[in-house]
Amino acid sequence: MVKVLLGIVLSQAIGLAAPLTAPAMAQKASLSYSELIQKTKKEEVERVEINDIQKTAKVYLKNSARRDANGAKQDQPIEVTLFTDSNTELLTTLQDFKVPVEVKNNAESAAAMGMLMQLLIVMFLIGGLMLILKRSANAPGGPGQAMSFGKSRARFQMDAKTGVMFEDVAGIEEAKEELQEVVTFLKQPEKFTTVGAKIPKGVLLIGPPGTGKTLLAKAIAGEAGVPFFSISGSEFVEMFVGVGASRVRDLFKKAKENAPCIIFIDEIDAVGRQRGVGIGGGNDEREQTLNQMLTEMDGFEGNSGVIVIAATNRADVLDQALLRPGRFDRQINVDLPTFSGRLGILEVHAKTKKIAEGVSMEAIARRTPGFSGADLANLLNEAAILTARRRLEEVTMQEVEDAIDRITIGLSMNPLLDSKKKRMTAYHEVGHALLTTLLPHADDLNKVTIIPRSGGIEGFSQTVPNEDTIDSGLYTRAWMMDKIRVLMGGRAADVEIFGEDEMDSGATSDIKKVTQIARQMVTQLGMSSLGPLALEGAGDMFARGGGGGGQGDYSEAIAEMIDNEVRAIATSCYEDARRMVRENRELMDALVEMLLDRETVEGAEFREMVQVYQERQKVARPVLTNVGR
Ligand code: ADP
Ligand code: MG
Ligand code: ZN
Repeated sequence: MVKVLLGIVLSQAIGLAAPLTAPAMAQKASLSYSELIQKTKKEEVERVEINDIQKTAKVYLKNSARRDANGAKQDQPIEVTLFTDSNTELLTTLQDFKVPVEVKNNAESAAAMGMLMQLLIVMFLIGGLMLILKRSANAPGGPGQAMSFGKSRARFQMDAKTGVMFEDVAGIEEAKEELQEVVTFLKQPEKFTTVGAKIPKGVLLIGPPGTGKTLLAKAIAGEAGVPFFSISGSEFVEMFVGVGASRVRDLFKKAKENAPCIIFIDEIDAVGRQRGVGIGGGNDEREQTLNQMLTEMDGFEGNSGVIVIAATNRADVLDQALLRPGRFDRQINVDLPTFSGRLGILEVHAKTKKIAEGVSMEAIARRTPGFSGADLANLLNEAAILTARRRLEEVTMQEVEDAIDRITIGLSMNPLLDSKKKRMTAYHEVGHALLTTLLPHADDLNKVTIIPRSGGIEGFSQTVPNEDTIDSGLYTRAWMMDKIRVLMGGRAADVEIFGEDEMDSGATSDIKKVTQIARQMVTQLGMSSLGPLALEGAGDMFARGGGGGGQGDYSEAIAEMIDNEVRAIATSCYEDARRMVRENRELMDALVEMLLDRETVEGAEFREMVQVYQERQKVARPVLTNVGR
């Protein structure tokens, strides 16, 4: 294939060259190659310029001979096309008759020169390609040559001292405890080797992004006082086959020279996927890299003092070979932090910031379920930036609140002018807010606002988990049902107040969340009349609804039952929500007026207003009933 390609390139080059010289030649008298030799022998030639690139010779005839067959005088040199590179016959003849010869390499035509350059580049590229192809064919274990190729572009980092300690990592106490042992392996291997224990070679950290996996690995190196070598799996996956494998070799070689030390491989799933699966079958490069990694890990003797730590958020796709004993046989889950974990992480990052006295880390931790450690670090940083922008001395709760909204919802925009749209938004949001306040198992309202946010958000009503759920992390069926009712509260208000025709797309994400929760209740949590069955894994929760269709391992009949159950939950909660909006219409109107006026209402104030109203109703009702009788 390479040869064919080369042929095409060459013929193209020639094709290009021809039009350059042909017209020029046409105007001049021409001479054939043999005629030139003859003329030389007749001593009619004064001098000759040979153009090596265009393969032509310019022939200057002697004065006496400057006449052509018709007797016309020839002032111009005559061009002769040469056929071979060497032109030995011509050259020797010219020499014999002492004709001065000038050989020009840089042709007068710059175009010809440029073309030559192009040709050279193309040939160079092809040469390189052939070299690489040859190398990869030569086997993965590869000869020394390939190694130097990879070496010159080695891309792992070495950190002699990471400076990170365990105290910098918070909220993942179990993982820390397990890893404490690894520190001891590195610091006092004798402790283990004297009793014949083999030190583990690999530790796999599994968890979502931003949970502190990299930080943990650095902390191990920091605590043990050993160097930290790191590379990301995605850096292995290169264009050229064999480069990744050679990088692995380099990395392990360097590490062994610096033992005891830590090798950290981030995103190991990029190379460590199950071999031979995925789109388009296997990936040669990745497989070779993975094989090399396995070889290296098997290769170093039990106690060489090198411990490999790898991180991934997709342990399920990893090749089983990686998880075998003697490789990454220790697996540690690093999950999103719980409430107390978030509190710990916030405290770590608050140390470096000036935080005002009234700011409660507990309150922030309560406001941030689902935040990773990285999110929390970012949150405090955003709050500090806002503080600086507002020219304040210390970060107050206001900055933290604003930073949370900015991260979770978007930048706040200018309030809308009074309009029907604004009023509709207010009813929608008060619908959510009122239901979350009234329903016994729902989360607490944090605030409700109709100040729009970037990304097309017209307003929102925000809740915080209450103490019951936050500590246990467990959610009851009652909580879920109330959550669905609250989510339906927005649409319920739209329809009750403005009528069916005024439903709008603003409830899209509410409805999507409702469907997710309801489906989870039916297919994973056994919370429907279908019974306690796990019908879908957590991963393929949306496989069917998302249009995958029929991929669950249950029959079509069950699929239909699932759909019916999900619908039953959603519609009954919707009906409940509408009833509540209807029954509290007067209260809603009052709340909407307040919200339109103030644009943002805090949870506490909202609750107070609801309570005051309810007290009034209680007082009013007996009187009314008395009158009625
Ligand atoms: P991962 O490697 O899991 O994606 P990182 O370790 O890179 O996450 O975390 C990014 C940053 O987030 C860290 O540098 C640190 O500032 C912060 N962070 C994450 N988890 C924690 C934690 N458990 N304790 C303290 N800080 C954390
Ligand atoms: Mg990381
Ligand atoms: Zn809504």
